[in-house]
Amino acid sequence: MRRISIFGATGSIGQSSYDLIARAGGAEAFETVALTGGRNVALLAQMARQLRAKVAVTAHEDCLGDLREALAGSGVEAAAGQAAITDAARRPADWVMSAIVGNAGLAPSFAALGSGAILALANKESLVSAGKLLLARAGAAGATILPVDSEHSAIFQALHGEDRSALERVIITASGGALRDWPLEKLATATVAEASKHPNWAMGQRITIDSASMFNKAMEVIEAHEFFALTPDQIEVVIHPQSIVHALVGFNDGAVMAHLGAPDMRHAIGYALNWPARKTLPVARLDLAALGGLTFSAPDLARFPALRLCREVMATGGAAGAIFTAAKETALDAFIAGQIGFMDMAGVVESTLSRLTSEIAITDVPSALEQVLQIDHLTRVRTAELAAQMAQRR
Ligand code: NDP
Repeated sequence: MRRISIFGATGSIGQSSYDLIARAGGAEAFETVALTGGRNVALLAQMARQLRAKVAVTAHEDCLGDLREALAGSGVEAAAGQAAITDAARRPADWVMSAIVGNAGLAPSFAALGSGAILALANKESLVSAGKLLLARAGAAGATILPVDSEHSAIFQALHGEDRSALERVIITASGGALRDWPLEKLATATVAEASKHPNWAMGQRITIDSASMFNKAMEVIEAHEFFALTPDQIEVVIHPQSIVHALVGFNDGAVMAHLGAPDMRHAIGYALNWPARKTLPVARLDLAALGGLTFSAPDLARFPALRLCREVMATGGAAGAIFTAAKETALDAFIAGQIGFMDMAGVVESTLSRLTSEIAITDVPSALEQVLQIDHLTRVRTAELAAQMAQRR
């Protein structure tokens, strides 16, 4: 029986992964090694019971009592804390979904690779913060990383069977997010609620706000740079409001292969789950005539400064990706807390990058996960300071 684990099982990607696993036979077809979650202990316990998981882990020590209670009599072991999550990732499995949100997903992603599993990687922070280390670890352990971000899964699929040396460029599409049609001068006033309504995709709140600011797309550009070993000028971004074309790959003969599909993450997750096979998935089928038209336009960098910043991060290399990720997360926290405005997020991230350039050897590639985590910590402190200063000036 195939052994699987889901990290971040109670989130948007985690629940879609659970749905596909349950439809594919659940506990009768898979041996579930570990499921992890955060505060949604009731859902975690329910999933763990259904899949007869060996262990269920909550990230929060104060949730352990509730988790134990919810699992009473089930035979599922309960555990809590970040270290327990990473321990669970060390348990041998054949397929591991990495879908914890943010840099908390980094250590479990690394640990899961140690056992040579297929790592279905939704947690883009792992690649942006520590791409070179992660890929090296996968190589050393004989593990496979499959991208789960829809754009990267699309590129991966379009490249299947192709000669990599013929690849010229990739084009990543962006919906433009919740505030796409707002006038530029109004963006500074956008509230958390307004930035949290994605036009096409149902996702977690943080990634939805990151879509509106395009920090999500900026992360995806760096993710593509790291995962597919592309130069920055080989990666283009185009606004595509319908979210039907997920990415395109251009070859040296001028041909462009596009990946199309309904905006449903179960496609990319299912592809990774069944890889290298393709199996029937419960996603809507495209009706192009009903759609009528697909439109594309160039992103305006004044509206989306994150897209400019990601180019600077790639040009700098080294630790810049780790700083960018942690600064973006902290700036997002400050926006959600009402401390800074929507457009201030990019300013805070840019200031953090330039401040840390004078504090650490930013162009040096971190040599170990511990170093990435130290840089992450320092960045969060500095970004929080800058956000607090900005809040005082508002
Ligand atoms: P959600 O916010 O919906 O879910 C996050 C998951 O992580 C939940 O299980 C949550 O637990 C858990 N979690 C939260 N904080 C911690 C922590 N500190 N330690 C351990 N676990 C924690 O996120 P998404 O599913 O939207 O996204 C997950 C990842 O996938 C992100 O990296 C995102 O960028 C990426 N991604 C998401 C896509 C999407 O469509 N949603 C598309 C492509 C990539 P709980 O809810 O119980 O508190």
